Amino acid sequence: MKAKGEKRAVALNSFLSPDQKKQVLRSLHEYKFIFISPEMLGVHSVLERLSEMNISLLAVDEAHCISQWGFDFRPDYLKLGHFRSLLGNPLTLALTATATEEVRADIVKCLGLEKIHEFIYSVDRPEISISVEEAGYQEKQKRVLELAASLQGPGIIYFSSKKMAEQIAAMLRGKGERAMAYHGGLEQENRILIQQQFINGQLNIVCATSAFGMGINKENIRYVIHYHMPLQLESYLQEIGRAGRDGSESIAILLYSAGDEQLSFQLAEGELPDQFQIERLFSSAEEKSISMSEIKQHEELFTGYCGFTETQWRFSADFIESRSKEAFSIIQKKMGNYVTERLQMKKTKIFEMLQYIQHQGCKRSFILNYFGEPSSSRPQKCCSNCQLNNEQYFYKKEPVPAAGPTYYDWKKELASILRQVSETDEKEQIQ
Ligand SMILES: [Zn+2]
Repeated sequence: MKAKGEKRAVALNSFLSPDQKKQVLRSLHEYKFIFISPEMLGVHSVLERLSEMNISLLAVDEAHCISQWGFDFRPDYLKLGHFRSLLGNPLTLALTATATEEVRADIVKCLGLEKIHEFIYSVDRPEISISVEEAGYQEKQKRVLELAASLQGPGIIYFSSKKMAEQIAAMLRGKGERAMAYHGGLEQENRILIQQQFINGQLNIVCATSAFGMGINKENIRYVIHYHMPLQLESYLQEIGRAGRDGSESIAILLYSAGDEQLSFQLAEGELPDQFQIERLFSSAEEKSISMSEIKQHEELFTGYCGFTETQWRFSADFIESRSKEAFSIIQKKMGNYVTERLQMKKTKIFEMLQYIQHQGCKRSFILNYFGEPSSSRPQKCCSNCQLNNEQYFYKKEPVPAAGPTYYDWKKELASILRQVSETDEKEQIQ
């Protein structure tokens, strides 16, 4: 917004130093647009300051995250209903690109919305051709390299594994492609850098995990390839929807090898604690006389003792914290039931994704049907089951520009993006 001339916009997020945060909070009334993460609303001083203001519109982006039964549930989003009432229930706009009827009902309920106007647009994107290709485990790697070399970029290749994203990006660079990997394991500075270089056209391919894409508005992405199947159709649609935003023809290709779903099941299971870990968590807390309200303070102890991943720990700690007034045994039972139910839901979503992959009819109609839309007229270049030929998207690549920064000039690039480089460093770079 600042780049477009609106100076009265501010973001309250973890990028700010404590001093900067204090300063922003003091002068909050001077801003017209305040961007804030749901996590930040958990900070008492922020919430207090906001509730003193007269907010005329509360906009919730990615509103599907509020629904427990949505694919991308984030517990912090549940605070938004309470937050809205503290603000005196202002006019609210909830936005999402993918929500089934059930999720939409949840959004309305959790935000405490009354007098609702629902604006529902089709999820269909006729400018994106959809293709599913089956390839043996060994051939898949060869095929993805072949596609990346032939398709007109820029493009995103999605992976479920960070290691695989790194590996394929390195192979592509070995073949002269301007490609980099992007995933949650990278330093934040590196992530910003790769994102910017892709947006600015200095990178042609990003090999990414699902961590890449939210908030990225690059109009000319020509292809999205999935090396691994996403865990649900909702994320698939969101990820392929990053192609063709300029309205020009683009292609989405999903590569499937028999048995790929096993990785998806493993990933789904890894997001939640298992029954054994839950049992261990509660018995050790009881043994060490740690009360439920104190659980969060003992991250190291429980993580080590129960073997939690970061995601599993965060889920467990949040779940217990929000119910800390209840008895030990009741929370334990509720947590066990919740995990069982949620895992079942995730498995159902994976099976639906698999059904989509194996569907012999029109892929586009399958997706529309899943989101409760009637199949409309199909575009000419519809899908792999409607005689689509992927080679129509093969073009001669544009030559790599001889001048200008390239991806490995990361220091200079980073400095210009973050504007944090000291004068000394700048002098050194010039020298
Ligand atoms: Zn079709």
